[in-house]
Amino acid sequence: MKKYIFDLDNTLYSHTLKVFPLIDQRINMYMTTRLGIPEPGVDSLRRQYWKLYGVTLNGLMVHYDVDPEDYLEYVHDVDLKHILKPDEELKTVLKEIPCSKVIFTNGSRAHAENVLQTMGLEDLFDDIFDVRVASFRPKPFPEPYLEVLKIMDVQGKDCVMIDDIPENLKTAKHFDMKTILIGKSNGQRHIDICLDNVSDIKTVKNLL
Ligand SMILES: [Mg+2]
Repeated sequence: MKKYIFDLDNTLYSHTLKVFPLIDQRINMYMTTRLGIPEPGVDSLRRQYWKLYGVTLNGLMVHYDVDPEDYLEYVHDVDLKHILKPDEELKTVLKEIPCSKVIFTNGSRAHAENVLQTMGLEDLFDDIFDVRVASFRPKPFPEPYLEVLKIMDVQGKDCVMIDDIPENLKTAKHFDMKTILIGKSNGQRHIDICLDNVSDIKTVKNLL
């Protein structure tokens, strides 16, 4: 049976809802207030860390000895109730996919649970794999994918991965997964299907 592996942020809900900027703000606050990094340097430091480590957290762990648990709790402490609401259409679409569905996110499990609960989707996923799954090594590095496949005891060819970041799907394709991009593709060959909205998965599920 196929496994559907869903990213969380900007995949299950639209990027236009701007949940991520709230987390972004918290990351910047963490860096200025908790670590004392001067505000003007924060953005360039984060860009540097993205390039080197994939996410800000890993750079802060290497260079500032940050406790990842403290960081994750702090940056995901955002109020989603005014932004996200129950998504009945998506709930129906997900229920109709007769396969195991999991979440695979670079965020934290608590944040994923918060999002799923706010959207009324908390009972539809069999598991949540968060950034802890491969000792905080994030997507698109291969390590967390290997862990997820190992824990689920499946091969990549039996998986469909849905994500809004083309790079994350490149690694998925490397593991022979089917790939669905939520958003606009630039014709990347590692993307099998491109959808505007995750609920549109109902229109393509027979192809997978
Ligand atoms: Mg995402």
